[in-house]
Amino acid sequence: MEAAREQIPAVIADREDRESRKLLSRLRDTLATPAKGQERLDRITHLIADSMGTEVCSIYLFRDPTTLELCATEGLKSEAVHQTRMKLGEGLVGRVAKASQPINTGDAPSEKGFRYMPETGEEIFSSFLGVPIQRLGEKLGVLVVQSKAKRQFSDDEVYALEVVAMVLAEMTELGAFTGDDEAFAALHKHPVLFRGLMGQEGAAEGHVWLHEPRVVVANPVGDDPDTEKARLAAAVEELRGSVDAMLAGGDFTDKAQQEVLEAYRMFANSRGWQKRMEEDIDRGLSAEAAVEKEQSATRARMEQVPDPYLRERLQDLDDLSNRLLRILTGQGADTGAEMPENPVLVARNIGPGDLLDYGRKLKGVVLEEGSVGSHAAVVARALAIPLVIQASRITTEALNGDTILVDGDQGVVHLRPDDTVSAAFRDKIAMAAAAQTRYASLRELPAVATCGTRIGLHMNAGLMADLPSLQGSGAEGVGLFRTELQFLVRNRVPQRGELAQLYARVLQAADGRRVVFRTLDIGSDKVLPYMKPQDEPNPAMGWRAIRVGLDKPGVMRMQLQALLRAAAGRPLTVMFPFVAQASEFFEARAALLAEVERERRLGHALPFKLEIGAMLETPSLAFAPRAFFEAADFISIGGNDLKQFFFAADRENERVRRRYDTLDVSFLGFLGMIVERCRETHTPLSFCGEDAGRPVEALCFAAMGLRTLSMRPASIGPVKHLIRKVSLRELRAVIDTATASGAQSVRPAVMDWLARQPV
Ligand code: PEP
Ligand code: MG
Repeated sequence: MEAAREQIPAVIADREDRESRKLLSRLRDTLATPAKGQERLDRITHLIADSMGTEVCSIYLFRDPTTLELCATEGLKSEAVHQTRMKLGEGLVGRVAKASQPINTGDAPSEKGFRYMPETGEEIFSSFLGVPIQRLGEKLGVLVVQSKAKRQFSDDEVYALEVVAMVLAEMTELGAFTGDDEAFAALHKHPVLFRGLMGQEGAAEGHVWLHEPRVVVANPVGDDPDTEKARLAAAVEELRGSVDAMLAGGDFTDKAQQEVLEAYRMFANSRGWQKRMEEDIDRGLSAEAAVEKEQSATRARMEQVPDPYLRERLQDLDDLSNRLLRILTGQGADTGAEMPENPVLVARNIGPGDLLDYGRKLKGVVLEEGSVGSHAAVVARALAIPLVIQASRITTEALNGDTILVDGDQGVVHLRPDDTVSAAFRDKIAMAAAAQTRYASLRELPAVATCGTRIGLHMNAGLMADLPSLQGSGAEGVGLFRTELQFLVRNRVPQRGELAQLYARVLQAADGRRVVFRTLDIGSDKVLPYMKPQDEPNPAMGWRAIRVGLDKPGVMRMQLQALLRAAAGRPLTVMFPFVAQASEFFEARAALLAEVERERRLGHALPFKLEIGAMLETPSLAFAPRAFFEAADFISIGGNDLKQFFFAADRENERVRRRYDTLDVSFLGFLGMIVERCRETHTPLSFCGEDAGRPVEALCFAAMGLRTLSMRPASIGPVKHLIRKVSLRELRAVIDTATASGAQSVRPAVMDWLARQPV
């Protein structure tokens, strides 16, 4: 479009600019006059048709997220208003809305997707120009002009109509078209259901708290382009200054952040960006509306770009536009709004540090992006806050204070739910609470099955904030302390002293119960903000965990020293993650013993007892030489990773993740083999992946011979409840029979058997 504009002689372009400014100022006057929603829309269609010299101008607005309704028209039959409807993607109007792209044709009836609406009488109009009415990626409707003459609208006419649509979008947001009619119910009032993905189980009812509040543009039409351009230039200057200051003051161990800032600087200095906004101003927009128009275009592009790198860059530009808008409108990130009761955080994404700052105040978290293994998800899980990820477009739809129900179990979010949904949801929460009370009564009781087998139930943790759950859940100890969380939530490598203090507090809080500290497991999805990103085609199978620890021993040594100092005089249990072959374990163990020796030489108190174990997360380790099983003080199966490598199915890829059942006979048989190898060498064995917290899976693991399970604290009650009701010996027989019968998974047989148990 820019190229086309350059071909237009300046004098004509200038005249058209003035025309469009005139149109916008007429539009503003119309909107400033008090009137009902319908009346205003009617006047606007008349005004646009008149200004653009077309016979028809129509406004279609979304009645619900998939249905557009003709809400006002100049030129089509008036009986069609509020009668003609189409689905998203249906007809030319529906296609404009679906693709968020204009359609401009001189011969509409022969255009792909054309649908004739007889009630409108539109058959006599050949030319069609439709542009989306959208605000920051939120689809609000479609603005259409049509004329009898077969002619293609010029790029400038398209552009002008887009600018008008942008103003309409702003006015819609401000409630300019709200009326009694249902079709004009104000935006952000309807119930909306979002289907995302489960990030952390649990249910919560509360009120929306937007991590980044929406910026409101009160005046989209500019009076004087020169003033508006000067405002824009000053704001861009301030933005550049702030990006430069951030870069100058940055901590340059923090490479990734620096790269983002460099990208910001590049965009902030981009003439193209500023020029496009200036052109929008020439067309009659105010400076902030011009920023928003470009931001909407960026968001529309973001939806179309499959390349993750490009998407990230567009995301940077989007962030930058937000900053610019805040400068222009004077609306800071902190709007002074009060956090509502029972806040549910809604954000596009959030860093682990920010999430920790909110802490347990939050009842739930809903993100537009995020992945199951993202840092935010790890923190939400550690804080036991229900989390739904991939809830597409929720930040555009939700307003601060809106009622919201988060169903972390199903990955579903109800925004502004109606009463029946709320009531059903409350029943669900009440049932879960009642079950928790039942489980609490088991807290002091052991997990002993009716056949007399005792299972040790431990909890997974990663933050100091998790430790109170030790008492609450009845866990016998911490079977997995993920130490990387402390590294993830900072923007620099923590120091030895800080870590030693933290580990000491953990041991103190555990009050003599065993805590298994897993050394740093970074790489794969857990990328430290200050670590140079590795460009690896397959990070889950790349340079991660113990591999990093052995190749670059500095940080691991520091961590081992911190653990030894923290333990001083108390027992210490250290576990190395992602050991794929015996030699890695021996090497890591030697590194730890060397640190023990060093501490002894320095005259520091040593742990009272030291256990050194390994995580079995790759099938290869199950086949390691016997010497490994003899040397390891204990082994813990990291089922999340083991399962992904066993089935070659990425644990973060929703498409393949659920394809393979944990109770598949090959996986259970494999676990049985590991149990057997550990039994031969008397090596204590536990299971600490997520599956240990699923009652049926936990039961089957126990039946296969696992005697220690480590899980989320909230799972301990349900797992214990089930174990105490059944005979593991009987269950083993069920599993063996199903396996011998050639079943793919033992699940059907186990469920069938469970249904006959007194649970
Ligand atoms: C596992 O892989 O099962 C495990 C417990 O480790 P993480 O989930 O932290 O990779
Ligand atoms: Mg793992």
